[in-house]
Amino acid sequence: MSTSTLRLEIVTPERKVYDGDVNMVVVKGVAGELGILPNHIPLVTPLKIAPVKAKKGGTEEFIAVHGGFVEVRKDKVVILAEIAEFGKDIDVVRARQAKERAEQRLNQKASDTDHRRAELALSRALSRLAAAGE
Ligand code: ATP
Repeated sequence: MSTSTLRLEIVTPERKVYDGDVNMVVVKGVAGELGILPNHIPLVTPLKIAPVKAKKGGTEEFIAVHGGFVEVRKDKVVILAEIAEFGKDIDVVRARQAKERAEQRLNQKASDTDHRRAELALSRALSRLAAAGE
């Protein structure tokens, strides 16, 4: 493996969604966006509901990762998340409908619990749409 690559693994409870060498990984941690290159300092941080960007050569791939954690090791980035979907696998119509439902709920006077649920649903839908390039 060349020194300009690092291994990216994205794992959900169901399967290994990604396992490959990339040049850079960009994630949205709870403390902000993080661009990870080879030889990054080791760290562990929780992730926001947002697309992960994997850069390889001239190409970029987007994976909608919903929460979870990233662990950066010397030459490896491991992302553990409940849900991880490739942009190309995302059903855009479904995500748009989920976004509309969530927005409608947020506009209604709802309990705090429902409000929080709707906010999370909206974040998932927006992340899916972004990962799908919408
Ligand atoms: P919806 O309201 O459309 O069900 P959701 O955000 O509530 O969306 P989740 O609970 O996050 O859905 O996911 C349930 C399952 O459906 C997961 O396996 C997830 O990968 C899949 N899924 C949800 N939305 C989409 C989508 N737009 N395209 C592809 N798969 C999706």
